[in-house]
Amino acid sequence: MADRIFFVGLTGLREGRHRYELTEAGATLELPEDGLTVEGNVRLDLELDRTGTILMARGEVTAEMELTCSRCLDPFRNAMSPRFEVVIRMGNNTLQLEDEEDTPVEFVDNGVSFAAPVRESIILTVPMKPLCDDGCQGLCQRCGTNLNRASCECPTEPVDPRWSDLKILSEET
Ligand SMILES: [Zn+2]
Ligand SMILES: [Zn+2]
Repeated sequence: MADRIFFVGLTGLREGRHRYELTEAGATLELPEDGLTVEGNVRLDLELDRTGTILMARGEVTAEMELTCSRCLDPFRNAMSPRFEVVIRMGNNTLQLEDEEDTPVEFVDNGVSFAAPVRESIILTVPMKPLCDDGCQGLCQRCGTNLNRASCECPTEPVDPRWSDLKILSEET
């Protein structure tokens, strides 16, 4: 695990708000899922807000993913900017998460790596069925032609069985 990714040292952190802009190569995030590729760099705009021993971390991630369209199977780029919040309790020499249910961060020396919440927030943002465009025409179900780029000579009658069910229903009424 690359524990120095998106790392912020906390030694001597004063009360109040602090802003950081951290940029790492997308490949260092080690995203687990197939077909989930980060293009170029991932930026983290991080705000740390210290009130006594409580440290509130708010992050906004900026990343560009390469996804595969679920309709036409073409790869396409998708810009995303997910956010996360983590609350950390600072002791004299210790750091711990205030809420264990939050995506855990890693404590390294006297600092924190925000790689895990960055990774999680990216994964959660990827749609279940990505579309290159809301109006994507998809592939012809008969010949496989990508209907965004070309038309084909296939009959236009729908072959999807759900459509024929609809047809029967409408004939009954
Ligand atoms: Zn598409
Ligand atoms: Zn066709």
